[in-house]
Amino acid sequence: MRGRTPTSAPATAGEIFRLVRDGVAGTRTEIGRETGLSRTAVAARVDRLLADGLVTEVLGAAATGGRPAARLQFHAGGGTVLALSVGVSRSKAAVCDLAGEILAEDVLDQPASVGPHQLLGDAVAMLEKLLLDARVDDAGIRGIGLSIPGTVDGTHGWSVGVPSLPGWERVELPPLLTSRFDVPVRVDNDVNVMALAEHAAHPDVDDLLMVKIGSGVGAGLVSGGVLQRGAWGAAGEIGHIPVHDGPGIGCGCGNVDCLEVVASGRALVRDLSALAGPEREVHDIHDVVALVKQGDPDAVRLVRIAGRRLGEVLAAAVNLVNPALVAIGGDLVGAFDPLVAGVREAIYRRSMATATQNLRIEPGLLTGRSGVIGCAILVLDEVLAPASIDRALST
Ligand SMILES: [Zn+2]
Repeated sequence: MRGRTPTSAPATAGEIFRLVRDGVAGTRTEIGRETGLSRTAVAARVDRLLADGLVTEVLGAAATGGRPAARLQFHAGGGTVLALSVGVSRSKAAVCDLAGEILAEDVLDQPASVGPHQLLGDAVAMLEKLLLDARVDDAGIRGIGLSIPGTVDGTHGWSVGVPSLPGWERVELPPLLTSRFDVPVRVDNDVNVMALAEHAAHPDVDDLLMVKIGSGVGAGLVSGGVLQRGAWGAAGEIGHIPVHDGPGIGCGCGNVDCLEVVASGRALVRDLSALAGPEREVHDIHDVVALVKQGDPDAVRLVRIAGRRLGEVLAAAVNLVNPALVAIGGDLVGAFDPLVAGVREAIYRRSMATATQNLRIEPGLLTGRSGVIGCAILVLDEVLAPASIDRALST
């Protein structure tokens, strides 16, 4: 295996699986060459991977004059993971294959304010139905990825800070899912998993800033190809950075004119409904987006101002981490044009030219699906890691 030194322990089945999954080695001969293992040792490990369904064997093209070599391929159908992306007003659940493709999905229309016990209980019932829809049995489930709109202690799966969700503070979440599905659970922040999903959708980009603008505002950072969670999992919490020319609105965190109170979906609903006449009712973000799409001048103007304030905060982030791509997601992305016009205006005014020269600011490629796909990737990274595969094969 690449990077192995002569003193390394012999490559395990899990490490061979990684070679196959990454496309580094596809035949037993190539695996032998990469790992230095004997033919017998390679065959024994490959047999275990085949038996577990993690790889399949296909006949390759015949080499001139020789027998066609059997090629090993990663088998995306060799199991499933469950994905659950909790939102403030609604959540999404999905069953995905081992490549992160969605096999079945549904929306749980329930405010997260009902609390984690009820919400995750209902989500489990929904996942059971989705497994039936996808005709997948429990035995193939290898893990669950969960995201919540708050700060997460990923090591223990605790919710640490969830200002937008009363009742979710300091709750150990995995047991609420493992009581029904006895598999590993990974928990992360909602924007972090969106960043994972957009990173996977942009394999050419190793430095990206994912910005979610929905009811609240948050960001997730992929730097050097790796998601950056920070020391306490709070990296990317941009919602409580104050803007400089706000109207003086107090925020729950104690500051004034935080991004969340001046430039979030919630703020736009508040400001637009204050202006709205009897003909123009504004109850939620979807109303704001609909008005922007109709060209309503107030809606377009307010969204552009929100974009400018978001851009003010993002400009500092752009100077600090020099992303190649700022991907915008969340419910307000439907009003992308005026939003991003404002964002661009502020970023180009306030960031270094060297940081903005080739900077792309685009809507995310996975709009509406990045939450569940990101949850699937989160847990796949864990359960398909060589050490996890070896553990699973040994039981
Ligand atoms: Zn605040």
